[in-house]
Amino acid sequence: MSSDVTLDDCRLALKAFTDQKRRFFPHIDDGLKKPRSKKHRASHSLLEHGGEEPVNYKTLPDIQSRLEKLVPNVKVSTYGRLSWLKRANSLPVSGSDDDPAEASKLVFQSSSKMRSGLEDEVADKVAVIELYVPSVFRAVVSLNPAGSVDPDSVAFFSPDEGGSYLHSRGFSAHHVYKHITEHASTVLQYFLGFGTGTALYSLLLWICSFESLFSKPCCKCGRLLAMDKKSALILPPLHRAYQELPLAANLDVCEAYHGGCSPDDS
Ligand SMILES: [Zn+2]
Repeated sequence: MSSDVTLDDCRLALKAFTDQKRRFFPHIDDGLKKPRSKKHRASHSLLEHGGEEPVNYKTLPDIQSRLEKLVPNVKVSTYGRLSWLKRANSLPVSGSDDDPAEASKLVFQSSSKMRSGLEDEVADKVAVIELYVPSVFRAVVSLNPAGSVDPDSVAFFSPDEGGSYLHSRGFSAHHVYKHITEHASTVLQYFLGFGTGTALYSLLLWICSFESLFSKPCCKCGRLLAMDKKSALILPPLHRAYQELPLAANLDVCEAYHGGCSPDDS
């Protein structure tokens, strides 16, 4: 427990440093975030053809209510860094379904009594988003800085995992979720590359497409299960297409692929 708190302290220090860097050297971030935006913006116009309202979800409440409508099976919950740490440690490893929203409320109330005003302020800001589909997956997304809508890392876990390693830079003990986590890092960088501030919405929507992880057959070979040559395991399709997502209005564009069948895995 004490080592986790120390890690959190390091993150806070890093965050302060990053904020300062942004303030004094704003051009550094600009250079990182805009390299691919021009090409991609020009190449898609799904919305105009589909007649849907423009995707422009840049606040957490907007994003959450949009996701609730589109994918009601996915539970989306938000936490401060400290309250997430406590929730991760308190998750039952047997996979029983407690209500994440209720649990986080309790944890946050009890922790806030013991902490100073400054820590409360930090803990209160949303820094972690949990997406949970019973019996399918739990995903953890980190926002940096806390309180923003800028995702900086993402990880997938089995619904029956619990412990301090359940954070956005951690890795599941299971091959399936470890593999999706690696795929997800690539996808996050792709969404951030647009530089339009909508990476979080695109990322969360893409994560929701994994609600069909064990039921959607591969778009290329047509099968649900296939032998993965790299791991010598029989696996469902662990990849979901993401290239069309930033401007699409639904999850139909997230086609499923096995690692070996995926067009972007060559
Ligand atoms: Zn396949």
